[in-house]
Amino acid sequence: MYTPPQVLAPRAADVSGLEIRRTLPHAHRRTIGPYCFLDHYGPHAVPVGDRGVPPHPHIGLQTVTWLFEGAMHHGDSLGSEQDIRPGQLNLMTAGRGITHWEVPQPEVAPRVHGVQFWVALPEARRHGEPAFEHHARVPVSGVGSWVIQTFLGEFLGDRSPATAHHPMLGVELNGYGGTKFPVDPTFEHGLLVDSGTVFLDDVPVPVGHLAAVDPGRDTLMLRADGFARVVLIGGAPFSERLLMWWNFVARTHEEIEAARTDWEAGRGFGDPASWPMARLPAPPISGRLHPR
Ligand code: MN
Repeated sequence: MYTPPQVLAPRAADVSGLEIRRTLPHAHRRTIGPYCFLDHYGPHAVPVGDRGVPPHPHIGLQTVTWLFEGAMHHGDSLGSEQDIRPGQLNLMTAGRGITHWEVPQPEVAPRVHGVQFWVALPEARRHGEPAFEHHARVPVSGVGSWVIQTFLGEFLGDRSPATAHHPMLGVELNGYGGTKFPVDPTFEHGLLVDSGTVFLDDVPVPVGHLAAVDPGRDTLMLRADGFARVVLIGGAPFSERLLMWWNFVARTHEEIEAARTDWEAGRGFGDPASWPMARLPAPPISGRLHPR
């Protein structure tokens, strides 16, 4: 039975002064494959001297940083110091705990524009060591009038070098006109529209919206009237129940509470003395947290 794409509207949120459009988690959909968080931002002018996002912790997830425009610097508690530019991928695997900070570089590029995803780690990996990888190049190919950059997983024969712990996909597509893409029928998919007049299976998907597609499809029909930029994500449905709070992805209230206590005590997330600026304090936990 054919189910049309479910079009999800973004909500506005603020990340350390940066205004973002958030489409995951959504009231109507928690995850797409292992993707549990989708922030889409810009283009925004960055004031010179902007300090970016101060040191903050993560557990249980991977952060996926992908820019359309701009220049950022990533630092973390493993000692990574890495600049990132459009077409490059930063993939940070938090495991049992990591701290990072992200600072825009307006002297290199005056505007920022991009996406940041969180990917939930499966039980077998989420308690493991933190890791960071940067990929200066990802596979680029073309189909019809579309240019395809495969930054996670495999798409149309291109394979990203990035480490995945659950079957998943992440690609940026730039182009125009109609085309039919083969996709993995075991995956659910999400199409985020950054710009253009875009239709998925003839359903209009406004800019900033995310069109979610259930498993069971072996092709997706994409069309853009004029030039468009979209990001296609996907993955095998993630069956573990997640508990997300602040920057933590876990399973139980106790785990979240322990991570928060450790962060506030300066324990378990690296050495705060080696960080370039003051850390972000955790908000209080109000009430008992429940997985969904
Ligand atoms: Mn972060």
